[in-house]
Amino acid sequence: VTYVEAAYDVVVIGFGPSGQVLASQLGMAAHRVGVFDRSPEPYPLPRAGHADDEIVRIFQSIGVAEDFAERAIPAADYEWLDANGQLLFAIDWNKASRSTWRSDYIFYQPYVEETLIAAATNHGNVDVHLGWEAVGMEEFDDHVEVTLREGHRDSGRWEPTGRLHRVSASYVVGADGANSFIRQAAGLTWIDYGFQESLSIVDLRLHDPDMDIDMPDAGQICDPARPVSLFRWLGREHCRWEFMLMPGEKPDDLVSEATSWKMLARWGVTPDNADTIRRTVYTFKSLLADRFGRDRIYVVGDAAHLMPPFLGQGMCSGIRDVTNLAWKLDLVLRGTAKQTLLDTYSSERRAHVEVITLTAMELGRVVCETDPIKAAARDAAFRAGNVPPAEPLPSLGAGVLHRGPDGQPASGAGRLSVQGLVKYRGRTGRFDDVVGHGWILLARKSGLPTHLIDAHRELLAALKVRVVHVTRAVMDDPDAAVDLDGIYARWFRELDADVIIVRPDFYVFGTAASIDCVGELLSSLRQQLQLTGPVT
Ligand SMILES: Cc1cc2nc3c(=O)[nH]c(=O)nc-3n(C[C@H](O)[C@H](O)[C@H](O)COP(=O)(O)OP(=O)(O)OC[C@H]3O[C@@H](n4cnc5c(N)ncnc54)[C@H](O)[C@@H]3O)c2cc1C
Repeated sequence: VTYVEAAYDVVVIGFGPSGQVLASQLGMAAHRVGVFDRSPEPYPLPRAGHADDEIVRIFQSIGVAEDFAERAIPAADYEWLDANGQLLFAIDWNKASRSTWRSDYIFYQPYVEETLIAAATNHGNVDVHLGWEAVGMEEFDDHVEVTLREGHRDSGRWEPTGRLHRVSASYVVGADGANSFIRQAAGLTWIDYGFQESLSIVDLRLHDPDMDIDMPDAGQICDPARPVSLFRWLGREHCRWEFMLMPGEKPDDLVSEATSWKMLARWGVTPDNADTIRRTVYTFKSLLADRFGRDRIYVVGDAAHLMPPFLGQGMCSGIRDVTNLAWKLDLVLRGTAKQTLLDTYSSERRAHVEVITLTAMELGRVVCETDPIKAAARDAAFRAGNVPPAEPLPSLGAGVLHRGPDGQPASGAGRLSVQGLVKYRGRTGRFDDVVGHGWILLARKSGLPTHLIDAHRELLAALKVRVVHVTRAVMDDPDAAVDLDGIYARWFRELDADVIIVRPDFYVFGTAASIDCVGELLSSLRQQLQLTGPVT
């Protein structure tokens, strides 16, 4: 065993989307990051197809949103059809959102990963090692050591070369997917929420990308004889069908070439007008780790949670995980906050993902109904408008949030922040691009600095908080951002606040009704962050 590197701040095991985004975030924060993935090359086939605007804003923060938006497409309507192709209901997936991006996008995962990998490997302080599998982990008081074995895939199968390496790091993050070695080695337990369905996935590239096909851009055919999910556009070059396996069917029954083309024939898709990218069967489950980490070891993405695909939120949740963990790791690694701050990664993210998983399961049960009588009752309920509208994604509840006297998150705390177009110091554009991201304190009135005591100034400096006066007026104040589209004016009104503090993961820490109360808000922030000592 050779020691390759004894001084990483963070070792990330797994270089799928979750590991890729985390590597960029920690790389931007100037930490020394070692990334190891067992696979010698990036995964070449698509899985995830949908992401919401929050994810695109996160991509924006690591400099890949423009590239993403160019190769993905804004989703059009998401339509649910009955067995005869009649519309049951439609959700507008191409709305304006709170972040300036469209509300939902459909993409081809290998292209997204290509962009994310380029961004992560662009940082000199991020080392990426492909073809190294984590096989051992040992914890010490002040660091963790991971043993890795090298492998290659010359004959198609992963074969170890016999070389072993041992690396050490202050923190280890398992982004190593559903069968996570890190999750198991850390003694975290999977909790099964009880969903299991298998879908046969067919990804195609049409010879003529504009070919007319009688299907919605994105949709579900709620046919009890065989539920089908459809993506007419999986990004700009591909399309996808997902056929549910019916009771008694085996994966092999559906993935043969002949069966696959037979099932596609009703849409006029044949080997003469389309190439198969892949056919496979996935079994979707609903599993959450009992907690998302402890001490010096954390899990993110599919290593921490698995959910059915019906909300298109699996990868999105992994990207939210790393965005939450990255800023906390940064504060702990810089010595600003105590390690116990990392407990809030688990409490905040687990509760959030649990709600999404339960909703995805519920949606899955509705879509996957195979009893014709129950399916007819469901269709009738949809037609009569007796189905509650889709719940918005949850807020954060347990963690670093300003709280009221009842201990519950105070007004606005835990909700996602907005992003609008602003003019700031001579530049016009999206707020995060022209002002920056990280900790942000937005004030609706000028004169905030006169309300701050020294301790609060020190806190703002230690967290590198950007203090911005957001106004509709054009003024000389160099800290003023002009609210060009009125997004912020509306948001201040909605929250009934003069001051809003936004965390680096874009969630609201808390608000103050007037500038006079900013001291209370900052004292609460100081306390919630579990700082190591007086901020100097
Ligand atoms: C058909 C399908 C449709 C989906 N649709 C959507 C959707 O529309 N929207 C959405 O958000 N999500 C969707 N998902 C989920 C999404 O694809 C996953 O949640 C996401 O890819 C997980 O990313 P990850 O980085 O956490 O894990 P992975 O992408 O699984 O990456 C884990 C990495 O860890 C590596 N690894 C594993 N073990 C080790 C080890 N011991 N040592 C070193 N490396 C290791 C692997 O080689 C791999 O590269 C879908 C999934 C499927 C299958």
